[in-house]
Amino acid sequence: MSRIYNFSAGPAVLPEEVLQEAADEMMDYRGSGMSVMEMSHRSKTYDDIIKTAEADLRSLLSIPDDYEVMFLQGGASQQFAMIPMNLMKNKVADYIVTGQWAKKAYQEAQIYGKANKIASSEDKTFSYIPDCSDLPISPDADYVYICENNTIYGTKFKKLPNTKGKELVADVSSCFLSEPVDITKYGVMYGGVQKNIGPAGVVIVIMKKSLITEDVLPGTPTMLRYKIHADAQSLYNTPPAYGIYICGKVFKWIQKMGGLEAMKKHNEEKAKILYDFLDESSLFKGTVVREDRSLMNVPFITGNEELDAKFVKESKAAGLENLKGHRSVGGMRASIYNAMPIAGVKALVEFMKKFEMENK
Ligand SMILES: *Cc1c(COP(=O)(O)O)cnc(C)c1O
Repeated sequence: MSRIYNFSAGPAVLPEEVLQEAADEMMDYRGSGMSVMEMSHRSKTYDDIIKTAEADLRSLLSIPDDYEVMFLQGGASQQFAMIPMNLMKNKVADYIVTGQWAKKAYQEAQIYGKANKIASSEDKTFSYIPDCSDLPISPDADYVYICENNTIYGTKFKKLPNTKGKELVADVSSCFLSEPVDITKYGVMYGGVQKNIGPAGVVIVIMKKSLITEDVLPGTPTMLRYKIHADAQSLYNTPPAYGIYICGKVFKWIQKMGGLEAMKKHNEEKAKILYDFLDESSLFKGTVVREDRSLMNVPFITGNEELDAKFVKESKAAGLENLKGHRSVGGMRASIYNAMPIAGVKALVEFMKKFEMENK
């Protein structure tokens, strides 16, 4: 077996222990005589799997009882529509546009009501987080929307916006479980799991119970109503059963690693190694304003497209994969999620030093 260091933005690296455990249980899940993939989602065995996953997630994030946890499908992108369909009671919502994912959510919301762009960082190719301490929040806004960690551009809200009492809705796909958070500051926190938690096909929605009602926009399909999924505890129809099982294993792994405080420390340590190098390098440069840098996604450039391409090619040959930047920005991007070991980041920096020497 030979594994490379995978810097993919998503689907992304998962803990090897989790993959090994899943492999061990593939043919016969704990004496059931079958794989979790082959199991009825109505069985007692599967019910234990999904209930344990929810309980472990609740404990990791200290999710209070007045919040619902839902395991849904359709990816983060489906939430771009589900959120306005379910929450736009006044048909008004305010969006802070800090990257492509926030922009897509903002555009989708326009189908259902009046979506206001109340702040944006598009003027500087989304390389910073705008000041959100005193924004023109609409008096009748149903919610204020952010993308908390901008996967493509590598920025992160270090401080949540002042929503002036409105519910905050946050897409946390690429920073989910990377550090402790205070759930009570959010009305909704959601994310596709394929960045930091598990295999593609699951999206986790954590939502204040008071926001989950039957009062949704006319025409909202049954499958896109939160109430349906909340009432059925994510078992209204067949859930993404195997994916949820892997997420459950990742929750256990995070617990074993020491929980979210320990994750934060581990992520800060990793990111520092890379950012410190970028700050002193004479060849590579980070593309993001220092105070808004993400711990998860680190974009960088040499300033020369040919050299960037050479770097991507040679790094791949050295066992460092998926370092090519997003097609919309170019350059390079290293995604260093929870499961990326420190050794992976050190190997990357060593390779960058060598490349710098050879290409000065
Ligand atoms: C990847 C990503 C998405 C899109 O996720 P899908 O599951 O592919 O729909 C949305 N938001 C953020 C922040 C992402 O990183």
